Amino acid sequence: MKLEQIRAAEARLLLPTYERNPVLFVRGEGVHLIDENGERYLDLLSGIGVNAMGYGHPAIAEAIARQSRALIHTSNLFYHEGQAELAVRLTERTGLDRVFFANTGTEAWEGALKLARAHAGLLRSEGRQIGTNFLALEQSFHGRTFGSVSTTWKAKYREPFGPVVPGVEFVRFNDVADLRAKFSSDVCAILVEPIQGEGGIRPLTQEFFAEARTLASSTGALLIADEIQSGMGRTGKWCAYQHYGILPDVTTLAKPLAGGIPLGAIVCTEEAARAIHAGMHGTTFGGGPLACAVAIAVIDAIEKDGLLAQATEVGHHFQQQLRQLARHHEAIVDVRGKGLMLAAELDSADLAKLTVAEMLKRRIVINCTSDTVLRFLPPFLLERAHVDRAIDALNEILTEHAAASSTTQPAAQTQEV
Ligand SMILES: *Cc1c(COP(=O)(O)O)cnc(C)c1O
Repeated sequence: MKLEQIRAAEARLLLPTYERNPVLFVRGEGVHLIDENGERYLDLLSGIGVNAMGYGHPAIAEAIARQSRALIHTSNLFYHEGQAELAVRLTERTGLDRVFFANTGTEAWEGALKLARAHAGLLRSEGRQIGTNFLALEQSFHGRTFGSVSTTWKAKYREPFGPVVPGVEFVRFNDVADLRAKFSSDVCAILVEPIQGEGGIRPLTQEFFAEARTLASSTGALLIADEIQSGMGRTGKWCAYQHYGILPDVTTLAKPLAGGIPLGAIVCTEEAARAIHAGMHGTTFGGGPLACAVAIAVIDAIEKDGLLAQATEVGHHFQQQLRQLARHHEAIVDVRGKGLMLAAELDSADLAKLTVAEMLKRRIVINCTSDTVLRFLPPFLLERAHVDRAIDALNEILTEHAAASSTTQPAAQTQEV
């Protein structure tokens, strides 16, 4: 089927949840996607932060081929070779002790919320005073299932499905006083993304993250860091919390974990894990042999190819170039992020939408989040030359836009480039 036929069929047959870009990708190579007409696109989004190793990576293709011939699924009623081997890698790299494997981000997050409730229950049974409430942050995003949307800030994700899970209060982002005011022994967990993703690539301040750690420790509440978007090397470290020198009690991983094969994980301390015993939680598909084999191959390739250092170096260059661009274009009001998790915030939602569409016309894939934020989540294989191509395209688009708005609105100030 061609793009137009597919569009018509989907419009008739699928729940209308997505507004797709009018492009039909058929394959990829490295950091490039290729459409049905053979056009190559530079991919700065990597399937919303999933395709960390780009496309057609030999280590991933080899792991899928090998493991699919050997064993794809066994259920969690039996042992297979992958979970322990992957858990060794994840615990070493996160600094935490125990792993539960799920399939997706939201499933890992649901499990983490349940773990917090169970842990608080255990503490109560031991005579400690601790409640069942959650503190989440404004602009947070934790997924689409009930617990996850209940802890997600944006009303449009929550309200159509109400009543959502009760007992969630939202703290103003990076507002230490608000955090202190809302924290009490009623709280079983503080929920953070060390760098908010969907909310606009917003890093926690050191002060706020440290205060969340201190408050949680003071009552036995868990500090849970959602690293589904920021984890597994995207920021130049395995987890974004490692930039802060703060260890959470629980972290959740997913997006890039198995290079495009669905896999999620909860990683937690021995203390948090005390709350769980056999039969309390589970999953049919989670941590299957195929996904684990690929995740092992991804981690090994990240290390073998030095991709943490590359993400740091290329990400630094990318951020510098965006800052340089911001000096010439008033429309860019902020540049944020770490490593290859970056954003340029624009002064208008219309311009952000237009920029994404214009970039796509120039065969560069980015997206826009939180209305005004251009988001860059490229594969970890990105090189400086790719960054420079994207910056040139952005410069061209913003320059054309500024020129066009100065002719249509004579009063507007234009900026020399
Ligand atoms: C994407 C995302 C999720 C949800 O992951 P899914 O795999 O889409 O369920 C949760 N938290 C964060 C921070 C995310 O970026």
